[in-house]
Formats: sequence, structure tokens, C-alpha cells
Amino acid sequence: MYVHSPFCARRCLYCDFAVTVRKTGDLEGWVRALAGELGYVEQEGLFVLADNLQTLYVGGGTPSLLGPEAMCELARVIGPARLTDPQLEWTAEANPESFTADVADGWSGAGVNRISLGAQSFDAGALRWMGRLHGADGPPAAVEIARGAGIDNVSVDLIFGLPSHLARSWEDDLHRTVDLDVPHVSLYGLTIEAGTALGRAVREQRETPVDDDRYREEFLMAAEVLTAAGYRHYEVSNFARPGFESRHNSTYWLGEPYLGLGNGAHSFAPPVRRWNLRAWEEYSVAAESSKNPEAEREILDAAAVALERVWLGLRTDQGLDRPPEGTAPASLVDDWVGRGLARQMEDRVCLTTEGWLLLDRLAVDYDAVGSG
Ligand code: SF4
Repeated sequence: MYVHSPFCARRCLYCDFAVTVRKTGDLEGWVRALAGELGYVEQEGLFVLADNLQTLYVGGGTPSLLGPEAMCELARVIGPARLTDPQLEWTAEANPESFTADVADGWSGAGVNRISLGAQSFDAGALRWMGRLHGADGPPAAVEIARGAGIDNVSVDLIFGLPSHLARSWEDDLHRTVDLDVPHVSLYGLTIEAGTALGRAVREQRETPVDDDRYREEFLMAAEVLTAAGYRHYEVSNFARPGFESRHNSTYWLGEPYLGLGNGAHSFAPPVRRWNLRAWEEYSVAAESSKNPEAEREILDAAAVALERVWLGLRTDQGLDRPPEGTAPASLVDDWVGRGLARQMEDRVCLTTEGWLLLDRLAVDYDAVGSG
């Protein structure tokens, strides 16, 4: 299950997520809306929820803005009996400025056992430029707070591809991340979305997007530094110490069903994908009055399922089944291997770091030659 927390204290320069800006999160309103939506989903049979969840991911937004009681309240909405699997992976996202010891203790007591920390950088100038509310000391302090509450399983988010005028040292940020000794790291390449403050700045030529060469160099450097430090590059944007791969995200990559609650959240019950109203105000009014907060849905046909299977498979280091010799997909894979974009294992084929830079194009090419 994914649960979206929509509140942020300020909107970051580049952010186009489903976020509403508030000084503090509206915990009561959030809980009422989620309870309304879950009641509707169960009543209408829109999703058959497991008796015991395998993974629960609370993302945002800034869930830590909801305070120490938030995860207890969420457990009450979901039903504590559904959160008793000893293997349950319960992740909550946190930003350093609002992840206090009280929040960490409250969450840990509720059952949260994994924190995804929005660090992004350790460079004070870059953090200010992004509009982040924490300083360079925020991420290490937050990691210590998580550990103090008994949560050692911490993932750190880092952003790359920032404009060169910031003179941010990506290498330094990577080494400072390694020094934190956390078991998981996620990378985000800066993208410039039209509706954001950054999008406007680029249109008005006050900012210049990073060029492809620098983007590529930083991605390759991350792979080099993090794998040398013992992390496995197990998905295009994710690195983990053995046994700490994100089980929640793996459900997306394996094409398994999931229920998403909250504004803008997506759900997938094959072959139907549906997503909720994006604006918090609109969503919460519908959900609280037990009306359908769905915005749209699509039914994946066989062609869409095939393309998605290829794209999701190529995202991870598990790759795809090796195509039979003599077929068009096999020739394509041979070409990729020759160009250093893929490697063949016994019965699998997966992309190299260079190949991951071209993931979308390669997935479309593979699908086009007939993935079978
Ligand atoms: S903290 Fe995250 S969700 Fe909130 S505005 Fe910044 S990028 Fe967006």
C-alpha cells in the first residue's frame, strides 16, 4: 500500500508533486480523508486488500510535517491487524527539518521500520537554491535521530544534474553520503517541469538546464562511487547494501498489485490502473464524504502490458529473460552488448550503467522488435 501525505512547509523550486503548502500538516483532515477513501474502496470492492500487508510506504509531500502521532493514526485507519506481518516493510519519508526525535520515536513505536530521507545535497548553497528548508548538517542529524529511535534502515535521496553555476560538488555529496553508512541510496536527476518555478525561470532564461554530458557524468560517477563503497546498483536509480533493497518499490517493478490512498495516488489491480484527484482540497472533500476520489483510470491492453514489462524489467539488474537465439530481440541484445549497453548472464539480459542512461529508448526498441 502507498499512502500520500500532501503537506509541505514550502514548495521546492523544481517540485510538481501533488503538494499543498502549510506551516504544519493537517493530521486530522488527512486521517478523515484516508478513512473515507479506504471505506469507499472496500465497500465498492475496488481493491482486495490483503489481511496482512507486505509493504506500506508513506510518501509525499513531507510526512514528517504530520508529527509524531501520524503513523499511529494511520495504523488505526488501515487496521492494526493488517500490520502484523513480522516481515512488514513500513517506510515513511521524512525531511531533515521536521524529523525530530519525537517524530522518530512516535513513528518507531507505531511500527515504522524504514525512513526515506529527503537529503538531496549537503551543499548549503545548492539546498538554498532548491528551496529546501534544511542546511548541510540536516541529513547527518536526521540519520542519527532515526538510529536513536531504533530505525537503522535509512535510505537517503540525492538529487543530481543541478545547474553548473551552483558549483555544487557532486563528488563531495556522494562521499558524504557514503560516510553516513546508510544501507540504501536513491538518486533523482533534476527534471524541469513546465509548471514549476524552475520551469518558469528556464523559460525566462534566468536558469539554464544542465547539459546531457554533465548529467551523464554525474550519473556514472554516482554508480562508481557507490558501488566501490559496497552498494549494489540494483535498479536504475537505486543502490542498496545486500538485503536492503526496497521491497515496496520492487512491487512496482515486478508489476504486482498495490493500493494507493491519498490525493494523486495511483493504484494498480491488473489490468486496471487508476489514480486519484490531484488537488488536496478536491480529493479530501470527496474522500471525507465517502465519494469516489478517483480522477481517471486506464485499462492496460496486451500491447501496453508488453511494453511495460520490458521497461520495468530493464530498470532492474534482474533484467529480462534472454531471448531465444536467432530471433530479432536476440540480435538487438547482441548489438547492445557490443556497444556496452547490456550484459548477458546465463539466462538473463540486463542493462549496464551506460545502458540505463538510455533506458526509455532501449525499452521501446526492444518492444518494437517483438518481445514476444
Ligand atoms: S519537500 Fe519534496 S514534495 Fe515537498 S515541495 Fe519539496 S520536493 Fe516537493
